[in-house]
Amino acid sequence: MSYDDDNIFAKILRGEIPNDTVYEDDAVLAFRDIAPQAPVHVLVIPKGAYVSLDDFTQKASAEEVGRFFKRVGEIARSLGLEKDGFRTIANTGVDGGQEVPHFHVHLCGGRRLGRMIAKA
Ligand code: 5GP
Repeated sequence: MSYDDDNIFAKILRGEIPNDTVYEDDAVLAFRDIAPQAPVHVLVIPKGAYVSLDDFTQKASAEEVGRFFKRVGEIARSLGLEKDGFRTIANTGVDGGQEVPHFHVHLCGGRRLGRMIAKA
């Protein structure tokens, strides 16, 4: 799947759509989900044009992948999520229920989140 420059997170990265930023550096942006599923629901995205976790882990260097996930952990700690725990989700493709085709990690916490996957 090729990267769609018109996806909503590409527009956020270009500053065309506002976001509630919690962290930003040269390679990573973290912002609050517009429709939070938990008291804390933050999306962490690389600034590079990657469609999904599958795409990211194929095309990005090991250094970039490692740096990204180091940041995910740092952002979780900056939000205090490590104290009571949290859930990290990276939906990929159709079966994964991915809606926005720019790789992102959901950080969710602030309450007991229950079962990992609801029965269909
Ligand atoms: P996915 O289903 O692709 O894993 O998750 C996409 C997430 O992006 C959803 O949780 C959805 O609420 C969030 N989202 C969609 N559009 C926007 C937006 O314009 N701004 C923000 N902050 N989040 C968005």
